[in-house]
Amino acid sequence: MKYEYMHPREQLVTIMHRVYGYGMTTTSGGNISIRDESGDIWITPGGTDKGAMTEADIVRVRGDTVIEGVHPPSSELPFHRAMYEVRPDVQAVLHAHPAALVAFSLVRTIPDTSIIPQARAVCGEVGYAAYAIPGSEELGRNIASAFEKGFDTVLLEIHGVVAAGHDLLEAFQRFETLDFCARTLINAGVLGTAQSLGHEQIAQFNQGKNRTLPEFDARARSSAELAVRREMREFIHRAYRQRLMTSTEGTVSERLNGNSFLISPYGIDRANLDESDFVHIKDGKRERGLIPSRAVVLHREIYGANSSINAIVSAQSPAVTAFTVTGTPLESATIPESYIELRDMPLIAFGRQFSDEKALAAEISARTPVVLLRNDAILTTGKNLTEAYDRLEVAEFSANAILNAAKLGSVRRIGAQELEAIREKFALG
Ligand SMILES: [Zn+2]
Repeated sequence: MKYEYMHPREQLVTIMHRVYGYGMTTTSGGNISIRDESGDIWITPGGTDKGAMTEADIVRVRGDTVIEGVHPPSSELPFHRAMYEVRPDVQAVLHAHPAALVAFSLVRTIPDTSIIPQARAVCGEVGYAAYAIPGSEELGRNIASAFEKGFDTVLLEIHGVVAAGHDLLEAFQRFETLDFCARTLINAGVLGTAQSLGHEQIAQFNQGKNRTLPEFDARARSSAELAVRREMREFIHRAYRQRLMTSTEGTVSERLNGNSFLISPYGIDRANLDESDFVHIKDGKRERGLIPSRAVVLHREIYGANSSINAIVSAQSPAVTAFTVTGTPLESATIPESYIELRDMPLIAFGRQFSDEKALAAEISARTPVVLLRNDAILTTGKNLTEAYDRLEVAEFSANAILNAAKLGSVRRIGAQELEAIREKFALG
């Protein structure tokens, strides 16, 4: 169900379960609120188990008075209220203490969101609020004054983070994306220095060609197409559950036949995508009224250049992204299984994925099925969606293994002779 049709109680419970389910808050920590059209604040309660929260636990507050609810409101109600007072455009506030963002709050450093263009677009500039005791009016003033300057995400000194939005999904997406940047930067620190993108590079990314594709009217859908839609939905939900994608990032596409394929849409929450959201692309045209992923032109070129590729996945999986933002080659010759699945993975210069699609597509083939896009994503291909998805998982596991091995000792790569033997035995060509 889409969030805009959910009652505030249901939205708060659903988002709290997402936050808790991903280990982004503890049983006791974190609080979320929504301001409704009458000005009442719906907020999670204080002192209850966040993992077992139900709609009956939600508290409705008008001014200082609880008008619905069996529990007291969150002890952090003062800062939620202070934020709503200074920002009439804000209708939802989310606060939690995920470990990676707490790490940044301990060293009093704001995570750099310019390492990935989408992150910059989702979070905007990130603000900072000085320490004050939890639950105090002073903490409320410190946070509100940061939001008053126009920031939508604010790091709290030795505490955690607050994100705001014009609705709860937007606040959640800012929170989730900032946490993703924090985790990526921590992993990147193992490899080197994360490279920030400049304003021009981010602007170049934001242009997008997906809206300008001509449209066509889709006719009756075949049973084959419906089966592909269902498979794509299952894989994208799985990717979200496994944290290989975030709610705002990650694309899958699958060929129907010839120049006809389905691709995931632009800007829809990955956890809530359903079959009807996927966009049919045929002969370079998009299904009328739907906006495909920004990667649509690159996917079209890859299908056009490679008749053996029938599925493509691109994602900002967390461990791999540490390699793409530092420009570190991701070595596949770690264990034989990784090399067999991934082969050599070229690092592609930032910008080529949306300015040089045809030439880039020609570099991808059955022998080079995976590429890493600098400061962006990993792109995997396969003869079917299962194979493309498996390659994403194998790459993420391999990246994780390398990041962990770096803390243990020096990594031994598979030697040239051993690689040759693997290529021969598995007929890798
Ligand atoms: Zn807190």
